[in-house]
Amino acid sequence: MALQVELIPTGEIIRVVHPHRPCKLALGSDGVRVTMESGLTARDRVGVQDFVLLENFTSEAAFIENLRRRFRENLIYTYIGPVLVSVNPYRDLQIYSRQHMERYRGVSFYEVPPHLFAGLTPCTEHLRTERRDQAVMISGESGAGKTEATKRLLQFYAETCPAPERGGAVRDRLLQSNPVLEAFGNAKTLRNDNSSRFGKYMDVQFDFKGAPVGGHILSYLLEKSRVVHQNHGERNFHVFYQLLEGGEEETLRRLGLERNPQSYLYLVKGQCAKVSSINDKSDWKVVHKALTVIDFTEDEVEDLLSIVASVLHLGNIHFVWWCSSPRLTPRPQLLSPLNLEQAAYARDALAKAVYSRTFSWLVGKINRSLASKDSDSPSWRSTTVLGLLDIYGFEVFQHNSFEQFCINYCNEKLQQLFIELTLKSEQEEYEAEGIAWEPVLYFNNKVICDLVEEKFKGIISILDEECLRPGEATDLTFLEKLEDTVKHHPHFLTHKLADQRTRKSLGRGEFRLLHYAGEVTYSVTGFLDKNNDLLFRNLKETMCSSKNPIMSQCFDRSELSDKKRPETVATQFKMSLLQLVEILQSKEPAYVRCIKPNDAKQPGRFDEVLIRHQVKYLGLMENLRVRRAGFAYRRKYEAFLQRYKSLCPETWPSWTGRPQDGVAVLVRHLGYKPEEYKMGRTKIFIRFPKTLFATEDALEL
Ligand code: ATP
Ligand code: MG
Repeated sequence: MALQVELIPTGEIIRVVHPHRPCKLALGSDGVRVTMESGLTARDRVGVQDFVLLENFTSEAAFIENLRRRFRENLIYTYIGPVLVSVNPYRDLQIYSRQHMERYRGVSFYEVPPHLFAGLTPCTEHLRTERRDQAVMISGESGAGKTEATKRLLQFYAETCPAPERGGAVRDRLLQSNPVLEAFGNAKTLRNDNSSRFGKYMDVQFDFKGAPVGGHILSYLLEKSRVVHQNHGERNFHVFYQLLEGGEEETLRRLGLERNPQSYLYLVKGQCAKVSSINDKSDWKVVHKALTVIDFTEDEVEDLLSIVASVLHLGNIHFVWWCSSPRLTPRPQLLSPLNLEQAAYARDALAKAVYSRTFSWLVGKINRSLASKDSDSPSWRSTTVLGLLDIYGFEVFQHNSFEQFCINYCNEKLQQLFIELTLKSEQEEYEAEGIAWEPVLYFNNKVICDLVEEKFKGIISILDEECLRPGEATDLTFLEKLEDTVKHHPHFLTHKLADQRTRKSLGRGEFRLLHYAGEVTYSVTGFLDKNNDLLFRNLKETMCSSKNPIMSQCFDRSELSDKKRPETVATQFKMSLLQLVEILQSKEPAYVRCIKPNDAKQPGRFDEVLIRHQVKYLGLMENLRVRRAGFAYRRKYEAFLQRYKSLCPETWPSWTGRPQDGVAVLVRHLGYKPEEYKMGRTKIFIRFPKTLFATEDALEL
């Protein structure tokens, strides 16, 4: 066959266009690149770009090998059907530029290499065309890249959507809320220099044209213990260091602060005030500017900074003699002495309460600034919502406590939702396409969710019950009660309940849960205290009379007269999760599953053991199994025909009839057997990857 070649010099690149085949060849300074008509290059096609196309789809080793091959080529994104799996490259791959945004906007999923922007294109398209609310759930362990993905997505939406009628105010506020929340809610940990110490769900509201008109943030369980204590090699929340490094002389003088973080006991515990990857000074500038964008007046900034400073001053209070706390008795009031340890405990409890309530206030303040100002206008009424969930992944440490218990419970809930929605969407797609649904066997982790959250019998209920017996109950009586109530549960174990062999690995003050992602042993020490989260009444009273306007909003006098016990931390968390699940259930879901390739935060290192754990924790094999249970691959008739029409003389160069009929002619010509595929209403469904691969290979010939 004669080759007709067109040469187009573009700078250093000469493009060679092959007129008869659905591909383009580009000779670049970096070598020869073959670009298929679909826009995929040969490099993009390393391994399989959708795990459902793995021949050996039940093999974890094959799964990991595919990830490795792609990671080696800096191909950090791979699909499992509509789910996007991402591996943190720990280097700037230059793949989020304006050009990339343009490239991925509005194109069909399979026509471009997997990408954060492409994987979610159907999601944005849904938003604009079908006007259905969407939720992107981003999960993964600490350092896996959740927050980066959230930020890139927000940027993508902000930059590619049409400009709102009233300029870009909402867009700017949406983007600028990030540095502020990160300053107050993120910290350097051993696993991530910018670790989010709270869960975040953000709604972005779009008007009927697709322009952002408002937003709302929900935050979950800030790790407030960090305010008073940090492990070696970790820091307190960024804002403290930013203020000390970046604050003006005059500001620091007014707040009575010294520039050196070593002067503050709350900042020295981790012994790493300076972090090479962080520039606190310039970050402070960004945060300070962002505060003005999200509607902070100068006075409010000052009020906020005095609170930050007061926490540092609180930490430096030393007790040299006994202190007292009022007893809850009728007048005359009795004072009971506190020893040094109790006094320090009360001081720390106050610092944590002040900081965490300020954080919640901050979220509220941002929400007021993001609230659509046009709530009465017709465009507001026809908004659609895009939700972004950036929440902590499953955690297993050497020592696991109340915090890990809450976080892992949250992951159980999200996994349950994930399985339910994945199965549901599979089933709905089959039904919509008129294809018989074949039930899929899978592990339903509802049993573990129930174990934690069930009324009266669940772990949280039992914990709350013990919290109602001050002075009598202890962490150990809580454990005993747990043992009595849930002793026969297949997912629960303690030293007493374990058999001889397992007993060795369980301490007496511990219980073990068999989570969907694996076993975790929790130490009950501190459970009651952390769940109660009490603050001495006189400290509350003092805070209620604070002249600082933010503080007086954070500590409301009604709290003092309220006879009802405040909800415990675990119950509040449980209720906020139920609300979150409801929000997510009401939206069209999209998923990004983030993987951290190594613990050294280094580019190019692929630690197989670490990755295997995450593949398990993220439930990826289960996800793949569900996706592969029926048909491995499905595609709209138009797209399928467009891609493979050159393989059949009847469909090449063009098919003028219905695309569905064209595909029928094409697959008959290719010799597909009836058991290998099904024709739906708008899509062809192919059962085995090998069928598709054979067709792909024919294209390459
Ligand atoms: P945590 O649960 O601790 O908050 P996380 O999953 O939010 O962790 P990120 O803060 O998003 O993790 O990522 C950790 C670091 O990894 C980032 O600061 C950045 O240096 C790097 N990183 C993550 N994703 C990418 C990416 N797509 N490209 C380049 N670097 C990345
Ligand atoms: Mg994060």
